[in-house]
Amino acid sequence: MGIVGAGPAGLLLGHLLHLNGIDSVIVENRSREYVIDRVRAGVLEQGTVDLLNAMGVGAGLQRAGLRHEGLYVSFRGSRHRIDLAELTGGKAITVYGQNEVVRDLIDARTATQRPLYFEADRVSIGGLDSSSPIIGFRHGGAGHEVHCDFVAGCDGFHGICRPSIPDGALTVYERVYPFGWLGILAEAPPSSDELVYTCHERGFALFSMRSPRVTRLYLQTLPDEPIENWSDDAIWDEMLERMTTRDGWRPTVGRIIQKSVTPMRSFVAAPMRHGCLFLAGDSAHIVPPTGAKGLNLAASDVLVLARAMKVYYEHGRRDRLDQYSDTCLRRVWKAQRFSWWMTSTLHRSPDQNGFDHQRQIADLDYLTSSRAAMTSLAEQYVGLPSEVSFDSAGL
Ligand SMILES: Cc1cc2nc3c(=O)[nH]c(=O)nc-3n(C[C@H](O)[C@H](O)[C@H](O)COP(=O)(O)OP(=O)(O)OC[C@H]3O[C@@H](n4cnc5c(N)ncnc54)[C@H](O)[C@@H]3O)c2cc1C
Repeated sequence: MGIVGAGPAGLLLGHLLHLNGIDSVIVENRSREYVIDRVRAGVLEQGTVDLLNAMGVGAGLQRAGLRHEGLYVSFRGSRHRIDLAELTGGKAITVYGQNEVVRDLIDARTATQRPLYFEADRVSIGGLDSSSPIIGFRHGGAGHEVHCDFVAGCDGFHGICRPSIPDGALTVYERVYPFGWLGILAEAPPSSDELVYTCHERGFALFSMRSPRVTRLYLQTLPDEPIENWSDDAIWDEMLERMTTRDGWRPTVGRIIQKSVTPMRSFVAAPMRHGCLFLAGDSAHIVPPTGAKGLNLAASDVLVLARAMKVYYEHGRRDRLDQYSDTCLRRVWKAQRFSWWMTSTLHRSPDQNGFDHQRQIADLDYLTSSRAAMTSLAEQYVGLPSEVSFDSAGL
């Protein structure tokens, strides 16, 4: 299989195929350092943690991952805890940076000695309607071609695989939000052991962490807000204004070591397959980060794809390949709905009036006082059950 992209989707897929004895070549246009250093997701669902452990790549996660059995929702100056583990029969989320996940997977790939090309130039794909597609690219000054049975488009939202599908073959569903997230990493010990989602009159804020010494915080801003507009002092003033609760809880202030603004969108391209090209992860769908689902959806897509490949190579059966898109999209749409709901319940829209804000507060009041509502959030936040057993994917 030819795999375009060495993000979480491409690297996980490559290792799953390896464990099933299926050859793959991974082609990535960025450098190894760039791919590892990119600061992105940090919340792993229970199923993603179980998958990494079952694949034998969970050592770093077990050593440094922070298991969270609850989270806080904060509004009107008070924090309300939702006990994820108690409401879901013991499931939890684990905070472990996406860059750590990617580093562990690159190490695992390197140990298998299977091909992984970084800094590939002019990557292209062709022959998608044939039985022998080709990935073309330049590397080290020479042209290369990978002739494969299938191509996995794991090259993210801005990659080349989805745009290689002929016009009219895909239906795109999209919502662009009128806000973005200003995210910072700060050298400050987390002042809470669990995430705090805050709905404030001045906009959404999220308290999170990466390690016992590093805090990760987000503020709702305009989607195109220049980061230069925000001095470090202004960021801390706004964080404290939105997050400080009546009981005196607030984030610990520290040196800001990274800051950026990310716009937010919901996006699905369907079907997730065209001929012998299979889209997985962000190349097929994007969620606003409020529900922490992006990386987790990439993991669930490639588990479905790995099972389909195993069934094809072991038994010559194409039925799982044919079902790939429908199987993935069922989970994708539930994650889209959850991410949209979390986003619209916690953020302040520019066209929002007093009625809308009171409705949000009522929603949050209900959420934090009804066991049924808390259970609904908890089971979606820790991750809905997978449609694919690890056993059926060769684990
Ligand atoms: C700024 C940012 C912040 C985020 N924060 C969160 C968060 O807090 N929580 C959460 O759950 N999710 C978050 N996400 C989403 C999450 O990071 C993604 O869902 C996840 O990375 C998806 O993995 P992927 O492998 O599908 O795509 P990617 O991680 O995008 O990987 C795609 C890979 O393909 C490579 N590539 C692109 N084009 C080519 C090409 N032409 N040829 C070869 N290779 C190519 C890219 O360099 C990249 O390495 C965030 C995303 C962004 C962009």
